[in-house]
Amino acid sequence: MSNVEYDKDIWPLGCSWIYPRDEKKKKILKVMVVGAHPDDPDLLTGGLALKLTKRGHRVKYVSLTNGNMGHQTMGPIDLAARELKETQAAADALGAEYECLNINDGCVYVTHENLGKVIGVIRKYDPDLVITHRLNDYHRDHRYTSQLVMDASYMLIVPHYFPEYPIPESRKMPVFMYSYDSFEKPYPFVPNVLVDITDVYKEKAAALINHESQMMEWLPWTMNQEDLVPPDYDINMRYQILELLLEHVFSGIMSNYRKLWKKGFKKKPRHGEAFEICEYGEQPSRAQLKEFFPDCYIPRSKELEKYQYAEIYKKMKKMEKRIKKLEDKMKGEK
Ligand SMILES: [Zn+2]
Repeated sequence: MSNVEYDKDIWPLGCSWIYPRDEKKKKILKVMVVGAHPDDPDLLTGGLALKLTKRGHRVKYVSLTNGNMGHQTMGPIDLAARELKETQAAADALGAEYECLNINDGCVYVTHENLGKVIGVIRKYDPDLVITHRLNDYHRDHRYTSQLVMDASYMLIVPHYFPEYPIPESRKMPVFMYSYDSFEKPYPFVPNVLVDITDVYKEKAAALINHESQMMEWLPWTMNQEDLVPPDYDINMRYQILELLLEHVFSGIMSNYRKLWKKGFKKKPRHGEAFEICEYGEQPSRAQLKEFFPDCYIPRSKELEKYQYAEIYKKMKKMEKRIKKLEDKMKGEK
C-alpha cells in the first residue's frame, strides 16, 4: 500500500497508477520501538509516540519478552496474560500498535533463533526509524535486545538470510537510534535529539497507568517502596505514584542536559525524552531528525563534546584550572 495520502479534490480516485505520485503530499512515517519488556517502549518513548500518532504517523511497539517474571506474587502464566492486556491498553492510549515476541522474561539471549524473530518483525513492518535500548543499559535483557537489533541491522536487506521473512519491497535501511539511560560506563549517553514532551506528559502518564502490575505493584516492591501504594488506591493516587516513578527514571534527562534544554527551546521544557544516533543503518540528516522528532532540539556536535567525552572533558577542565593557577603564580612572581 502506498504511504502517500491523496487530496480527494485533486485526485478523486486516489490511485497512484492513474495520477502521478505527488511527492509533496504528506508522508506517513513508520517508527518502531523495540524494547526488552512490555512496558519499556511506553516508558522510554511514550511522549514521542503521542506526538507522532497525533500527527498521523504510525508507531509500532515491540517487546521481546512477555514480562512473565516481573511480579513478587503472581505466577508467570497469569502474569504474561495480564501484561499482554495491560500493554495493549497502554499502546491504544498512545495510538500505537503492539506486538510481543513472547520470549520468557530474563531469557533474552543473542541466539540465531531470537535474531530471526527480530529480523522478521522489522522486515514485516518496514520502518523508517527503529529505536531500542543502548548496549550498556543495566538489564541483561535490555543489552541483548539492543545487540539483537544491532545484529539485525545490516542483515535486514540480505534476502537469503531468514528467507521465510521476505525483505520489504522498499529495500530501505532504517535509521537506528537509542533511547535514554543514565549509565556512564563504558560510554555515557549522548543526547543527539532532545524532545519537549511537556504538552503530552499527562497523557503519557495516563497511558502508563495501564501497566498496573508493573507500575503499582512490581516496581514499588523492587524499590522497597510498596508502602507507597495503599491497598485502596484510587486513580489520583495512581497518577501520583506514576509521577514519582517517572521522576526517578527521567530526572537525569532534565538535569544532566540543563543547558541544552535551555538553549534549544524558547520556554524551558518541564518534561522531555532524549535519543542518541546509532552508527549503524541509515545516517539521518538534521531535516530527517526534525521529521522523526516533533518539537525537538538537535545540538551541534561542538555542544555534545562535553557528554561524548565526559571523562576526558572533566580531566581537561582540571588541567586548564591548574595551568591558569600556575600562570597567575608566575605573573605574581615577576
Ligand atoms: Zn525493561
